[in-house]
Amino acid sequence: MTATGFISSIARRLEGKVALITGGASGIGECTAKVFAHHGAKVVVADIQDESGRSLAKALGPSNSTYVHCDVTDEAQVKNAVNAAVTTYGKLDIMFNNAGIADESKARIIDNEKVDFERVLQTNVTGVFLGIKHAARVMIPRRNGTIISTASVSSKVGAAASHAYCCSKHAVLGLTKNAAVELGQFGIRVNCLSPYALATRLAKQVIGLDDEHLENLMHALGTLKGVTLQAEDVANAALYLASDEARYVSGHNLFIDGGFTIQNPSFCMFQYPDES
Ligand code: NAD
Repeated sequence: MTATGFISSIARRLEGKVALITGGASGIGECTAKVFAHHGAKVVVADIQDESGRSLAKALGPSNSTYVHCDVTDEAQVKNAVNAAVTTYGKLDIMFNNAGIADESKARIIDNEKVDFERVLQTNVTGVFLGIKHAARVMIPRRNGTIISTASVSSKVGAAASHAYCCSKHAVLGLTKNAAVELGQFGIRVNCLSPYALATRLAKQVIGLDDEHLENLMHALGTLKGVTLQAEDVANAALYLASDEARYVSGHNLFIDGGFTIQNPSFCMFQYPDES
């Protein structure tokens, strides 16, 4: 490969690929749709927020992106979204199971209604299961593809979110591991992403703070200082896993958490004098 060819392949890391992003109309999904399109992918935005989804697809360019209504809890709609990618662009290379919801994190288990618990699992777990299933259906015959799902730091640590949310994100990791083993024989990679908290609609609703206050709080609670997690950071991690640069990475849980999940805040022996 020539030097110029190498540089342009870095600049357009998803050239010729087709991606489907659930929960693509806002937050992490929206940002990832923009990053994927910027890197040359055709992007199918799938969501239940039709107006924002349609306007995002329009902004990305009608030849590069389409919107499809898809409630990830409904198998027929997930199947339809995957089929729409194949019909419109000829194939599906990248499935990003990103749609997710959260619930009231302060609900103690004795107050936690079964219906609320199951509602979160339906979107965050069943939705991911259906996404993996239908992506695999079209990827297996081509013996190629990459599947990414959005988990969370709650795939590793307890008490950072509600019981249902924590349980659902542990389940995303479980599905990732199982599917990575099963689909590896077909050359299909399966990974998940685990971001720390960032100011999207979901986090703001649950935590009840605006962008600035949420970011300040998360910065104060985080391990890595001087930087605030943004949707672009998660989108760039998704870009890596989606690209051929990650061609031997499968079954991985990629943390975008500034080291939050490796620290036990009760034990920190590295104290510096306050120099302010
Ligand atoms: P967001 O609310 O901006 O985006 C979530 C999207 O999912 C929305 O567009 C919403 O319409 C869509 N959605 C919800 N239910 C759906 C359904 N049944 N079918 C299809 N689409 C549906 O929030 P976000 O933070 O960008 O969330 C994206 C993912 O990131 C979620 O899986 C979330 O759990 C995860 N996550 C978020 C944070 C955070 O702090 N924001 C941290 C870790 C993980």
